Amino acid sequence: MSDTKSGDDKTLSVTPKKTLTLKRPGSEQGTVRQNFSHGRTKAVVVETKKRKFSMPGDKHEPAPTAASVFAPKPQAAAPAPTPAAPAPAAPAPAAPVVAAPVAAPVVAPPVVAAPAPVRAPAPVVNETPRPARQPERSGMVLNSLSRSEMDARRRALEGSVVREQEERARAVEDARRRAEEDERRRKEREESARRQAEEEARLKSEAESRRRAEDEARRRAPAAALEANVPDEVEAKPKGRVGPGAAATPIRRIATPEVARPAKTKTEDDRRRGKLTLNTALSSADGDARSRSLSAMRRRQEKFKRAMHQETREKIVREVVLPETITIQELAQRMSERAVEVVKFFMKQGQMMKPGDVIDADTAELVASEFGHTVRRVAESDIEEGLFDIADHSATLVSRPPVVTIMGHVDHGKTSLLDAIRNANVVSGEAGGITQHIGAYQVEKNGQKITFIDTPGHAAFTAMRARGAQATDIAILVVAADDSVMPQTIESISHAKAAGVPIIVAINKIDKPSADAQKVRTELLRHEVFVESMGGEVLDVEVSAKNGTNLDKLLEAILLQAEVLDLKANPDRTAEGVVIEAKLDKGRGPVATVLVQTGTLMPGDILVAGDQWGRVRALVDDRGNRLEEAPPSMPVEILGLQGTPQAGDRFAVVNNEARAREITEYRQRLARDKAVAKHATQRGSLEQMMSQLQSSGLKEFPLIIKGDVQGSVEAIIAALDKLGTDEVRARIVHSGAGAITESDVTLAETSGAAIIGFNVRANAQARHAAEQSGIEIRYYNIIYSLVDDVKDAMSGLLSPERRETFIGNAEILEVFNITKTGKVAGCRVTEGKVERGAGVRLIRDNVVIHEGTLKTLKRFKDEVSEVPVGQECGMAFQNYEDMRQGDVIECFRVEMVTRRL
Ligand code: GDP
Ligand code: MG
Repeated sequence: MSDTKSGDDKTLSVTPKKTLTLKRPGSEQGTVRQNFSHGRTKAVVVETKKRKFSMPGDKHEPAPTAASVFAPKPQAAAPAPTPAAPAPAAPAPAAPVVAAPVAAPVVAPPVVAAPAPVRAPAPVVNETPRPARQPERSGMVLNSLSRSEMDARRRALEGSVVREQEERARAVEDARRRAEEDERRRKEREESARRQAEEEARLKSEAESRRRAEDEARRRAPAAALEANVPDEVEAKPKGRVGPGAAATPIRRIATPEVARPAKTKTEDDRRRGKLTLNTALSSADGDARSRSLSAMRRRQEKFKRAMHQETREKIVREVVLPETITIQELAQRMSERAVEVVKFFMKQGQMMKPGDVIDADTAELVASEFGHTVRRVAESDIEEGLFDIADHSATLVSRPPVVTIMGHVDHGKTSLLDAIRNANVVSGEAGGITQHIGAYQVEKNGQKITFIDTPGHAAFTAMRARGAQATDIAILVVAADDSVMPQTIESISHAKAAGVPIIVAINKIDKPSADAQKVRTELLRHEVFVESMGGEVLDVEVSAKNGTNLDKLLEAILLQAEVLDLKANPDRTAEGVVIEAKLDKGRGPVATVLVQTGTLMPGDILVAGDQWGRVRALVDDRGNRLEEAPPSMPVEILGLQGTPQAGDRFAVVNNEARAREITEYRQRLARDKAVAKHATQRGSLEQMMSQLQSSGLKEFPLIIKGDVQGSVEAIIAALDKLGTDEVRARIVHSGAGAITESDVTLAETSGAAIIGFNVRANAQARHAAEQSGIEIRYYNIIYSLVDDVKDAMSGLLSPERRETFIGNAEILEVFNITKTGKVAGCRVTEGKVERGAGVRLIRDNVVIHEGTLKTLKRFKDEVSEVPVGQECGMAFQNYEDMRQGDVIECFRVEMVTRRL
């Protein structure tokens, strides 16, 4: 009774009075109850609760639950058991609850109404709601309920509540145990394969026995729980959660003897689990068994869940394409794994790697198989497969304009002829359009286009051929009628013949009185060029570039020849072609003039050109117009490359950046490897090299030359060539237009070359690499002084060495116009420091624009001697004002060091 009362109190305190009063008149359960339950859905809620309660029971231990719950109320046997089993069917049980009102009418409904969802007082009530619809019938049963029956029921209720808690605790317990097991399994997986197998087997048997033990325990649990210490148990649970089952703790003692046998030693551990002894605390193996907080458990479960996710992800087996080398990042990407996981894997193998590190294919294959993927190895050269020369079906081919190159001896009038043709035949007739030199242009004749490659001399032609590219369809051999065949004329003939390109002879300068066209024809005979009038098939035209004579005839001859050649290309495909010229432009970055040979090039295309790639930002024609597309035989300037390719490099449009990167990285590596293989590994400065030359009798002087324009680089190379004597000569390991890059430094390092920058800078990585490997980079802005220096070095008569030390860089954030001082650049020092009195250079897009000294160096309003990195300052150049936002001011110190030998 006391129990009941306390129970009542509880429920009363929870339930609002209103319900009570309402319930009382409801003693005539039928109607009131009905109305009420209809009016509110509380009853329904209760019903749900009941179902919920019965569910776990059903799932886990249906029998004991039902039995134990109802066991204590055998008095109420008549009504109670009925609800338990045939609940929905029998309307009778409904009554009991509602009936209660007779004695404790107040109590019962509240129990139903309020606490119902929380606890499960429901068993009695639950059936109520539905049957409530038949109050008449239930009423009879109600009357039969006595107070003792109610008590019994209440006790049963409490029992069930306790049991439910137990149930919950056990569920948590189970989850935790599962997590624990998985955690352990995961750990063990990391151990060696052998141990892993053993361990797993053992674990499995353990887990099994434990599960058996648990089942055993569970079966006993209800009984035990009911037996007595119910409250104690409930209290004990939170503390006892550690073990395999808190609820089981008391039971375990009973269960152990049976469980112990199959589980062997582990069970003993289990038995001890609740306690934290020094041993358990210190031994790592049993570490898991130590007490853990609820949140720790939760964390662990989450971790476990995460691990599960990863495992499922791993199950997607991929075929990983492996080149000869690959970065960890790229490998992870191809496996659809996180790079961190791969790095972790290496860490476990005792190797510290970064995602950017490059590993070879063997290692990569190992990693991939470790992650459960299959691999496909590809040779590096496969990378380029399908890049060029994709065959076109003949049906897709459309006739295209011929591409013409003009060759001939120096001063025979190549440039004059090109200019004359261009000026007389502008494609679109845009008079006054500002023409710019882009290395190639198109003219129109009789509605047909002709493309001229405007790179005089055969050097470019040869360079292209050397790179496997053939841009030219027809070669125009210019021979001055007053000078006739000369050495370069003969060379040109050889090149054209070697390339299998038909020749058209342009006999120039026929306006000159001393002109002798016939002499030219006869002399050409000797070099196996048979012009038509001499019985051959080579077309010849007498022209005058100066007067514009017969230019039409020349163009007609070209078109005639083109017709014979039947030139075709497929415009409806990704573009391919050749780089005619490339330079680093001050404002626009790397700019390449390319000739589209097949397909159509469009802005946005990603292309690979030599060892450079880029996304086409803009296409510009020779008159500076932006183009939407460049069809076959169209020469066009492209903006958006990452670097400057070489003249003669072939280009092709690729599908994506990744492929572009892959190809260019491979090519850069290839170029480096070639250089490494070719040249002795001697590093050094000009001076060192000189002494080496002297001491070892070396005859070559390796140099890497980078300039702002291909033209200047060529001029330097030509000048250096002239320096060569029988004993010593400059050997150009590499040359090109563009900034000095890390790969140049690597090449210098491997080939023992010095690097010369003409109006270009080394980028930060290159500078760093050069410092590290002790490679000298010399900067010049006058060819004359460059050549002089090299000459000095080569002749061993070195003037005091001019040693330049980099001090710092500052970036121009803003340019102010100050009335008295003129233009002042507001800068931030990004590297090193800036010093007053030191030399400064203004660099825009890695190109040196100005070199000089500072007029002012100000920090706020004060003139200062130096500004350290990270700080802002104002700078103004002596006698120079064209600074722009984004330019970099480089600060350097120059020392003159006497040469040591
Ligand atoms: P390149 O070295 O082959 O490019 O020859 P250029 O075009 O620079 O011409 C060399 C010189 O020949 C220049 O001084 C021209 O003015 C001159 N020249 C070129 N074509 C003609 C021509 O048709 N008639 C005359 N009289 N002089 C010419
Ligand atoms: Mg010329």
